[in-house]
Amino acid sequence: MERKNGAATSMFAMYTGKFIKKALSVTKCLVFSISVSWKASRKHFLLRVAFEALGTAVPVAVAFLGRDVINLLVDTVQKGSINEGMYRFMQLLTIILLVQFFNSVFQRFNNICADIHKDKVSNFLNMQVLKKISELDISFFDSPKFYDEITNARRDSQFLQSLAWISINIISAAMQLFVAIPILWRLHWVLPLVLIVSRVPAILVEKNYTRYTYAWTRERAPVERKMAYLQGIAMGRAYAKDVKLFGIFNEMLDRYTVLWNQWFNERKSILLQRGKWAALCSALPQAVTAAITFFIGVQILYRRLTIGDYSFYTGISGQISNGLNSLITAITNIYDSELRITNYMKFLEWKSNLAEGGTLLPSAHPEIEFKDVSFIYPGTERYVLKNLSFHIRPGEKIALVGVNGSGKSTIVKLMLRFYDVTEGQVLVNGVDIREYDLNGLRKLFTAVFQDYANYAFTVRENVTLSDFESEKDEVRVREACSMSGVDRILPKWKKGLDSFLTKQFEEDGEELSGGEWQKIAIARAFFRKNSSVIILDEPTSALDPESEHSMFLRFSELCEGRTAFFISHKLSSVTMADRILVLEGGRIVEEGSYAALMDKGGKFAYLFNLQAEKYIRKGSA
Ligand code: ADP
Repeated sequence: MERKNGAATSMFAMYTGKFIKKALSVTKCLVFSISVSWKASRKHFLLRVAFEALGTAVPVAVAFLGRDVINLLVDTVQKGSINEGMYRFMQLLTIILLVQFFNSVFQRFNNICADIHKDKVSNFLNMQVLKKISELDISFFDSPKFYDEITNARRDSQFLQSLAWISINIISAAMQLFVAIPILWRLHWVLPLVLIVSRVPAILVEKNYTRYTYAWTRERAPVERKMAYLQGIAMGRAYAKDVKLFGIFNEMLDRYTVLWNQWFNERKSILLQRGKWAALCSALPQAVTAAITFFIGVQILYRRLTIGDYSFYTGISGQISNGLNSLITAITNIYDSELRITNYMKFLEWKSNLAEGGTLLPSAHPEIEFKDVSFIYPGTERYVLKNLSFHIRPGEKIALVGVNGSGKSTIVKLMLRFYDVTEGQVLVNGVDIREYDLNGLRKLFTAVFQDYANYAFTVRENVTLSDFESEKDEVRVREACSMSGVDRILPKWKKGLDSFLTKQFEEDGEELSGGEWQKIAIARAFFRKNSSVIILDEPTSALDPESEHSMFLRFSELCEGRTAFFISHKLSSVTMADRILVLEGGRIVEEGSYAALMDKGGKFAYLFNLQAEKYIRKGSA
């Protein structure tokens, strides 16, 4: 017996613990969503609260007034004077009409207010997600899980706006019940009780399906993203040529349809099951309402209630039913939103993997040193760089050479602190780069990346993006265009620097070749002011031989006064470097000037001669 009691007590404690945990989590979510609604627009938040409170009071007032009207009519017909009855009747009718008129006007305002407020909350949340993404380091962008979580966070954030209103709905439903239950209770205490109990099965069904549906939705994020991707291939400009040439539209559509069918069948089955159970559960409250109506009718027949009481008490039962329905919907929504909002809050807690930067600001012309650096990309296990050490003096021109995958771009990414080293240190003027303010550190550098981005903006905006504050500096814009060779393309375009690039948004936008885009990217790199280190990762890969030649001839002039890192597969182009670092499998295997490396006859000389031979053979052929 004692053991039984002990087990019961521990069960009770477990359930109480679970309940308290859940209640705390729900409260946290409610506070969070109300704070979001409040921050998005205080004015609209307050207006909506006021309108909601008004909307709760009106139906109860109308029920009372309705009872008075019917009782008055019945009394007047049975025994009263018509004149007096008519006067009182018109009085009551006027009050009812006024109450309903003002209520409908206020509700219309409430709807407008709600629409505006929703837009504001939606924008606030969108900004919150974008700001969070901007705080995260580049390694997040390598992970598919990151994109799944963004898809989920964007979807979940939409529920936040509703949760703030759910809390207000709960308050208004509670107010409705607080007024209506005692009235029905006075008639008979069993009546409100059975009305409440009849809703319990519906609550349980909704709760279970909500949890199930949410888990399913989260699981489906990768599939939804893949569906959007396949649609993107069918519609996207970047893919249009391949789609036409290789005729892959139908293949993409088939793949999309397979995924959609799978998604749709699963969703349909959940909806059907949920609907079936909800329909079954809704029969119970309807039967209870019918029984209560019968009870009221019988009371009137036995003259224990007046005829006016019929509409009054059925109205009040309706109020309780509505209140309970709102409460159930609110509770289910909270349950649904609690899971979503907890996940959304977890998303907002994501932190960059980079160690927190210091506050030091680097001096303008830095010495850069890699000291025994080893690196593994986050989420992988393979060393991409191993025990790498080198030292660069201010103003030195360095060429990084090596076959694909030898680690050249990774060195650049570590220098820019897109990633933190796994072992060792990157030093700027003898100080670990983690000690510097991150933005201050990155301002030292400008770069043309191998996978540079093209923007559907004007030429001027494309060039000045690297130093947007100086957008109006015409002299510097022209200078950057002349350094990169953009000035030779400009006359082709009707609007010159203000020509819009691509036809994505403008009918008269200009379309560029790969080489022209690359020149724009080079101009962007040169436009960045005060950056004393320039990184050029395959900067001439898309240029025609003439532009490439002119670029190489002017390379020293272009990079004058700057430290330069130059990555190129065309080994003839690295001859102007002060020093060449030859990489193999993430290690430096040779280092020295062009002449020294050629004299040495090692890896570099081998690769150089291989390329030269190719040109000579081609030339003599
Ligand atoms: P290179 O510039 O010399 O062609 P990279 O520095 O780009 O070489 O790449 C070196 C190695 O690191 C390659 O094997 C490549 O697959 C790997 N790598 C590059 N970027 C990533 C990444 N974001 N995540 C995981 N591995 C990567």
